[in-house]
Amino acid sequence: MTKTTPIAFAGASLDLAEDQRSAAQLTDFSNAKNARALIMHHGSFLVKGGALALVPPMDIVGKHLYDPGPLFLGLDGDTPLFAFSFAHEEEAAKMVSGATLEPIRALALSLPPKDLGMAGRAKSLFDWHRAHKFCANCGADSRPQHGGITRKCPSCDTDHFPRVNPVVIMMVINGDNVLLGRSPEWPEGAFSALAGFVSPGETPEEAVIREVFEEVGLNVTNPVYKFSQPWPFPGQLMMGMFCQTDETKLTLNTKEVSEARWFSKDTIRGVWNGTDDTIYCPPPFTIAYNLIEAWLKK
Ligand SMILES: [Zn+2]
Repeated sequence: MTKTTPIAFAGASLDLAEDQRSAAQLTDFSNAKNARALIMHHGSFLVKGGALALVPPMDIVGKHLYDPGPLFLGLDGDTPLFAFSFAHEEEAAKMVSGATLEPIRALALSLPPKDLGMAGRAKSLFDWHRAHKFCANCGADSRPQHGGITRKCPSCDTDHFPRVNPVVIMMVINGDNVLLGRSPEWPEGAFSALAGFVSPGETPEEAVIREVFEEVGLNVTNPVYKFSQPWPFPGQLMMGMFCQTDETKLTLNTKEVSEARWFSKDTIRGVWNGTDDTIYCPPPFTIAYNLIEAWLKK
């Protein structure tokens, strides 16, 4: 994975302008003639012509917004970029003539990488604000600050920072075969890489070894980091890993994995080429797709 092949939801490359977020500076940014804002409603974004439909932030005055109000995403070159989470679908849809609200998962297949990265960042931040209205230290109402990149408790003065939850997602490799699994809630025939949250006190490498043993009973070695993906559902950092095993016998934890199988490169190549439809793999905007593709090229 290189910078020329950005994974979905990465690559927005905004200047977060963390030292330009005083109240006066934010007012100046929102009043700037070139300032623009993207519009979200319940995880859907306003789009037109295959791109985010952006509006001047001042057009939002008087509209019904969710917490935290205006979210300053940062600077795109010299363009201040804001995001707004609308409370009413009709109000959001009317902001740009001919634009429509589309779920971010559907947009992951069509938006330009930069737009998708901005939308993903906005969704993760809005989701964090919605779930962290109260101070975890004293229980009082907390308030957004610095354009919505943190919250502060006015009662006990604690600063709260957006959560990013680390997840390992791994290709378990035995010779020319890879292990893929199916979660209980997935349809028949859908397979992907095993994955799990990193626990406190654990490295990603240790998490790979633990998760694979817990889920399918295999001992793996040599976990190696490959590349990662911000995943805004709601705020994971997916860390793609490869690991090895000499074992083949599976002991499934059926609460987490209802089915797991070894697949040869020939089989997965057939799935990739569309000549084998016995299983289907994750869509191209997922890190699992990119990991499987990287394994095929090994
Ligand atoms: Zn507090």
